[in-house]
Amino acid sequence: MSTTPGRATRERLLQTWNHQCAYCGGRADHLDHVIPRSHGGAHREDNRLPACQMCGQAKGARTLAQWLADIATTGSRTARPGAPQTAA
Ligand SMILES: [Zn+2]
Repeated sequence: MSTTPGRATRERLLQTWNHQCAYCGGRADHLDHVIPRSHGGAHREDNRLPACQMCGQAKGARTLAQWLADIATTGSRTARPGAPQTAA
């Protein structure tokens, strides 16, 4: 399993990004899958970007392209067109 990023990879990527979320510039606390595993995205370093918890949750199981398209449509990072809206 040499292609699976481990903890060292995670730390290195976070350091490379200065622990900044790749999407909003906030504090990243994990690595997001740019293309989610459920969309066939690889569990590899070239499919990972640091993200804060909010962006990670907001993006959810969408690809980055889908997420950006939804943001353009709804004007909101968290809204999911076609999905039931959860009350705040
Ligand atoms: Zn963020």
